[in-house]
Amino acid sequence: MLVLVLNSGSSSIKYQVRDVPDDGGSGEDVIVTEGIVERIGEGPVKDHAQALEAISRKVGDAVGDTDIDAVGHRVVHGGERFDEPVLINNEITRAIERLNPLAPLHNPANVLGIRAITEKWPKMPQVAVFDTAFHRRSLPEHAWRYAVPDELYRRFGIRRYGFHGTSHEYVSRKAAAFLGTPLEDFDAVIAHLGNGASVTAVKGGRSIDTSMGFTPLEGLVMGTRSGDIDAGILLFLQREGYTAEEIDQMLNRESGLKALAGNNDMRSVVEAAEDGDARAAMALEAAAYRLAKYIGGYHVAVGGAHAVVFTAGIGENSWQFRERVVGRLDALEIMLDERANRERSKEPRIISTEDSAIPVLVVPTDEERAIAEATAAVVSAAKA
Ligand code: AMP
Repeated sequence: MLVLVLNSGSSSIKYQVRDVPDDGGSGEDVIVTEGIVERIGEGPVKDHAQALEAISRKVGDAVGDTDIDAVGHRVVHGGERFDEPVLINNEITRAIERLNPLAPLHNPANVLGIRAITEKWPKMPQVAVFDTAFHRRSLPEHAWRYAVPDELYRRFGIRRYGFHGTSHEYVSRKAAAFLGTPLEDFDAVIAHLGNGASVTAVKGGRSIDTSMGFTPLEGLVMGTRSGDIDAGILLFLQREGYTAEEIDQMLNRESGLKALAGNNDMRSVVEAAEDGDARAAMALEAAAYRLAKYIGGYHVAVGGAHAVVFTAGIGENSWQFRERVVGRLDALEIMLDERANRERSKEPRIISTEDSAIPVLVVPTDEERAIAEATAAVVSAAKA
C-alpha cells in the first residue's frame, strides 16, 4: 500500500511516500520519495493548500499521485479522546480542531493539512496518528494527575498527556523484538533525545509514565526548552511584569542547552565542551544528570527495567552524551561498554558490558514508518 505521510507544521510540511507491505508491516517497507515544503505563507507558497499542491506535483513525478492509497497525518495532540490512530472524517477533523488550545503551535497546522487533502482528494482515506495516544492508552491516573484543584482538569483538561508517543511505542516494539522479549513482558526506560526530548517508563509494552506533561515543555533539559522548573518562577516573573508571550518565548525557545551553553545543537555543545568550554561542559552535565534522575525514577516505576533504550538524533548519534548519562547509573550497576558505545550503526545494538545489570540499547526511531504502518493497518481494517 502506498501511503503519503504528512507532518504539517505551522510554516512547513514534511512528506514521505512509503510502500508499506500488505502483510501488516512486518516485511521491509520502502521510502519511495520524501521532502519538505518550507516557508509556507512567506513566498509563492501562500498556504497549506498550495503547499499540498506542490507536494502532489512532486509525489506525482515520483509515483503518479493517483496511485497513493492513503494519507497518514502526524497529529501532535489527541487529548483524552484519542488513544489509537483513527480514520478521519469531518467529525474527527472537528474534534482535532477543538484540541487546538492544547497545542496551539501544532494542531491548527495538522487540521489545515487534513482539510487541504480532503479538498484535493475527497475520497482519499486519511488517518490521524497522535503523539499522545500511546500514553493516553495506559498512563495511570496517579501518573497523569497534577496535584492541583480538580477544576483545572474539568474546565481546561489540565493533566499530563505526554508526547513522542509514536516514537516511544515504535522503539519499544523494536527493542523488545531485538531482545527476544514478548512485548507484553517488556519493561524498559526509553529515552527519545532529539531537539525535543522525553523519557518514558514502559511496563508490559505500555506507557505508565512519561516526562512531558500538559505541554511538551515538562521534563528533560532540551535544545531550547527548560524542562522541569519550579512553577513558582512563572508567578514571580508575572509579578515582575513579564507577559505570557515573553515567558513562553523564554522557556520554549531560549532555555535548555541554548541557555546553558549558548547553542541548542548537541553536536556543537559536545565540540565546545571538548575544546574546554566550561559552560558547555556544565550544560552537558545538567542535561545528563536530569535524564539519569528520570531513568532511576522510571526504573523504580516499572518495577525494575529490563533495558534502557536511547533513540532519536542525540540518543542515536551522540556517544559522548550517552557516556555521560550511563556514567551516572553506577548505583543501578548499569555498565557501559565504551567501545561498543562509540561504534556507529543504523541498526539496533547493545552498548553495555556483558556484566551490566541490564542492557543499554541504541534503537533508531522512524516515526514516518510507524505512521505509515499505522495508516495502512487502519485503512485495511476499515475495508475488511
Ligand atoms: P532530532 O530532533 O531527533 O532530529 O535530533 C536533533 C538533535 O540531534 C540535535 O541536537 C543534533 O545536534 C543531534 N545530533 C544529530 N546528529 C548528531 C551527532 N552525530 N552527534 C551528536 N548529536 C547529534
